[in-house]
Amino acid sequence: MKYYICETCGVQYESSLKEPDTCKICNEERQYIHPNGQSWTTLEEMVDSGQFKNAIEREEKKLYSIHTVPSFGIGQTAYLVQNNDFNILWDCITYIDESTIKEIKNLGGVDAIALSHPHYYSTQIEWAEIFDAPIYVHEDDREWITRPSNKIIFWTGESLKLENGIVLHRLGGHFKGAAVLEWKNGNDEKGILLTGDVIQVVADRKWVSFMYSYPNLIPLPASKVEEMADRVKEFEFDRIYNAFHRIVKEDAKSSVLKSAERYVKAINGTLFTT
Ligand SMILES: [Zn+2]
Ligand SMILES: [Zn+2]
Repeated sequence: MKYYICETCGVQYESSLKEPDTCKICNEERQYIHPNGQSWTTLEEMVDSGQFKNAIEREEKKLYSIHTVPSFGIGQTAYLVQNNDFNILWDCITYIDESTIKEIKNLGGVDAIALSHPHYYSTQIEWAEIFDAPIYVHEDDREWITRPSNKIIFWTGESLKLENGIVLHRLGGHFKGAAVLEWKNGNDEKGILLTGDVIQVVADRKWVSFMYSYPNLIPLPASKVEEMADRVKEFEFDRIYNAFHRIVKEDAKSSVLKSAERYVKAINGTLFTT
């Protein structure tokens, strides 16, 4: 029996004798089956290949980014937040090895894991078992769990206070249960919003965008983006980190609000004439 991993999205499945027929995360309009077809690996194979390593970098006080080199699957970045001796892993990556475990233990380990949405579920159960940490996933995305575990806590409603100064908010949009993490103590108490790709930092770092599907460029309705911007108004933050190591360094809340406004104008046909 093996825990197979889809090589396109990096998500691990429950143990099986043979490779799953298809990846449910990829075989859906928000992702895609690789043009060369579905392929699988396992964590053991990845470690044994000696091809991968994780880069753990200090971003700022009490915030570390973690990503795999060379890039694997979707290529996302996870973050370790050190909040008052309670460490939270925000989003997850597929690859993990002994040196990653040692480095993260040196940073205080992981007390809880929280996920923005199914594209980053990766090997979350491996991480949860290694660090003996619960995983917080929104109930509305339960159907996308590919490896069930009693480590997963399905939270409900619009917000969940994980710790003092750490709140998860369901914004929806990209996925029904899509969530962001508000870290009020970060950035010298000015606050940080970790957004996965629920709010996407774009090439021009003063702006963000919102999509149902990023690889297939399917937009969200204007009403949903307005609703998301309305929620964000209430959060305390001045900086955003997304899942691809893109950062809106300051004034991030006004970036979200003006970006939502621009998005709605574009969708409604009043931003430009071409
Ligand atoms: Zn996949
Ligand atoms: Zn996504």
